[in-house]
Amino acid sequence: MNQELKNLIRSVPDFPKKGIDFKDITTLLKDKNGLNDVLEELCNLAKNKGITKVVGIESRGFILGGALAVKLGAGFVPVRKPGKLPAAKISESYILEYGTDEIEIHKDAILPGDNVLLHDDLLATGGTMQAACKLVEKLGARIVQVSFLIELSFLNGREKLQGYDVKSLINYDNE
Ligand code: AMP
Repeated sequence: MNQELKNLIRSVPDFPKKGIDFKDITTLLKDKNGLNDVLEELCNLAKNKGITKVVGIESRGFILGGALAVKLGAGFVPVRKPGKLPAAKISESYILEYGTDEIEIHKDAILPGDNVLLHDDLLATGGTMQAACKLVEKLGARIVQVSFLIELSFLNGREKLQGYDVKSLINYDNE
């Protein structure tokens, strides 16, 4: 499974800047069998766990996150970059290689009784997802699972997500 799916992902060297090997999932998304396979796999990992909300991270986490929410019979909640959400919200900043970044969620998007699945396309250093988990916990919900299509395990992003049930479908263990 890992290798068949890997064949559908395009690696683009030095994008968006030198030294980054960008994993382009558009080549997988346009393949109807590939798209269906990853959605089924992600859904199988998360089903029967009582998930009430799927939180997707801007922007590529919206694609499979939205589809997953429908398949799981859950609601969908976007976590967005600053300035995009129109109503009352909370923010969390996190550290990047150079500087910091911030993400936001609507205050009323998640309720204390919610069982949440967080989803993004790719786990690199884990900073983005760690911040997203903090937002969900600030709103009092329980994090049931954190899932990714792709994991770059050589960057050790899981260290930032200790204590959560972290799943990924495709792993790259070296650069
Ligand atoms: P991080 O916070 O370091 O785990 O970065 C994760 C976020 O950055 C995800 O939303 C990814 O979409 C994006 N990202 C980081 N590295 C890559 C990469 N090599 N290829 C594609 N997207 C990446």
